Amino acid sequence: MHKPNWRAKMVILSRRFVWDEQTLSYKRMPLRVRSLLKNLLGYVAEGAIVGMGALGVSYPRWERYFAQRAEERIRSMEQQLHQKMEDTQSIVDRACALYDRSQNLYRPLLGLASVKPEDRYGAMGGAPITIEEQWSYQTNLVFQEYNLLVARLKERSARLRYLPCISPVQGVTVSGYGYRDDPFFHTWRMHTGVDIAAPYGAPVRAAADGKVVFAGWDTGGYGLQVEVDHGDGLVTKYAHLSRLQTRLADSVRRGQVIGFVGSTGYSVGPHLHYEVIERGVKVNPQKYLLLP
Ligand SMILES: [Zn+2]
Repeated sequence: MHKPNWRAKMVILSRRFVWDEQTLSYKRMPLRVRSLLKNLLGYVAEGAIVGMGALGVSYPRWERYFAQRAEERIRSMEQQLHQKMEDTQSIVDRACALYDRSQNLYRPLLGLASVKPEDRYGAMGGAPITIEEQWSYQTNLVFQEYNLLVARLKERSARLRYLPCISPVQGVTVSGYGYRDDPFFHTWRMHTGVDIAAPYGAPVRAAADGKVVFAGWDTGGYGLQVEVDHGDGLVTKYAHLSRLQTRLADSVRRGQVIGFVGSTGYSVGPHLHYEVIERGVKVNPQKYLLLP
């Protein structure tokens, strides 16, 4: 089969039919390269015009389509943003509730002064503030509060070792703190500690960690006694002992045996007279007991 080469193709392309008035027929005219190029350019231009026309006709529809898509996208993003803002607001609200709870409950429990409700978010008033600034301010407040509580708790738990929260001897409390008819002097007088009846020689234990600041005979009626300093102005006193198990300046731990029950000094029978002294003031030891 004859395969037309490129030259033959050019001839086909270049053929043009012209109406010949004389012969009254179509005459095949060979085309020169220049007119061939002119024709090609013409086709391209026609194509471009038709294409642009089509584009122009459909453009408003495209525009509507893309605008619609953009609107949908914006609406969905707005919804997402709205949802995120609601979520954030709810988290901040819960954080603020925690902050208020801390102010009303945890601070008093830990012996910290509370901020008055009307002053809690005080710095936010006045100048207009964006919601983001408000969130940032409120969450910062909560973080500060948390750090404060943690620091205070650590301090407290360290301090707990020095609080006389156990009973120094196993026995029966026969006389509490307060005014009473004194069994030794038979007069109405203040009893500055508690009397715990226990068998002679029963072990007496330090009620908390501390340092022995007195161990020996007291001339005022306490007999053989021990005093332990727990720091922060807190001292415990163990009186009427029969024997000591510690010495001045010893460091003692809670529960460590420091002496034995006796009846030395102004005493009518074996018992421990136990005192808690806060900055020089004798207070009710019950106040510190974990198990009263
Ligand atoms: Zn007593």
